[in-house]
Amino acid sequence: MRRGRFAPTPSGQLHLGNALTALLAWLHMRAVGGQLILRVEDIDVARCRTEYALQMMDELRWLGLDWDEGPDVGGPCGPYEQSRRTSLYEEAIRILEQAGRLYPCFCSRAELLQVASAPHNVLGEPRYPGTCRALTDVERMARRRAKEPSLRFRVDDQAVASFVDLVYGQQRVPLSDVGDFVVRRADGLFAYQLAVVVDDAAMGVTDVLRGADLLSSTPRQLTIYQAFGWPEPTFVHVPLVVDRDGQKLSKRDRSITLAYLRSSGVPASRVVGVLAFLAGLCDKPVELSPGELISRFDVKRLPNQPIRLTEECESMLAMR
Ligand code: GLU
Repeated sequence: MRRGRFAPTPSGQLHLGNALTALLAWLHMRAVGGQLILRVEDIDVARCRTEYALQMMDELRWLGLDWDEGPDVGGPCGPYEQSRRTSLYEEAIRILEQAGRLYPCFCSRAELLQVASAPHNVLGEPRYPGTCRALTDVERMARRRAKEPSLRFRVDDQAVASFVDLVYGQQRVPLSDVGDFVVRRADGLFAYQLAVVVDDAAMGVTDVLRGADLLSSTPRQLTIYQAFGWPEPTFVHVPLVVDRDGQKLSKRDRSITLAYLRSSGVPASRVVGVLAFLAGLCDKPVELSPGELISRFDVKRLPNQPIRLTEECESMLAMR
């Protein structure tokens, strides 16, 4: 049985880009007769709010989407909120530590930013220079007295992460360019990279469909799958929606949130029609229900470029 998921972070309101990802995750599973899981990624409790999570679910239902498992409908792999799954992350850390894959890192953000000005990895992100990789036990003990460390996952510098993304094609990223990455912060917060893999594996997710901004996270996540010997899912990164100036949509821009569109009286079918048109699923933006798109959906035909909002779509969404 194919299993997909939509995994929003409730740190703000859903916007058109999030809605497109949700619609595509739904279509992908409905088209193959699979199951869809809704997982609330509220691991960073300081940034997330329960109201946003409830609002997200309400708005997704308003769009006409449903899910087979989730915080509200339950299911065999719950809880479906990351904030309630920390014992699983702790256990994963324990196993990785025992396998010698983690080491404590005492570098401060400021120190890392200084060195980060030099080598950036192929993903355009600062690569960890390995400062704390080879500290001796004595050095670690001494530093622990002054500072709580984060935990870093040691990547195999010689290895290359290689995977086929169903939209973006063959990817090959040398792990020496990715660098060792944090799986638990000094303040105890588990990193997204760890939590997402632990959850996708525990929930039996076979198809990870998400925004293209996370394509660069995939090599790190694959190394975690491999460290545990868990089967790797298929990855489908879908293009982000950008505004007419080519800028990424922000959760702070009210006008493109589902809440705003809904309160302005825009029908859900029009939002779905506009999203389907933008993703190339239909020739013109017409009013549609998600179910009407299932038969014409093929993940392999999605564009691999950012999707720009058009004037026509914007005016359709501003209409009553
Ligand atoms: N929680 C992430 C987000 O809202 C998505 C994580 C994922 O799909 O892997 O951007």
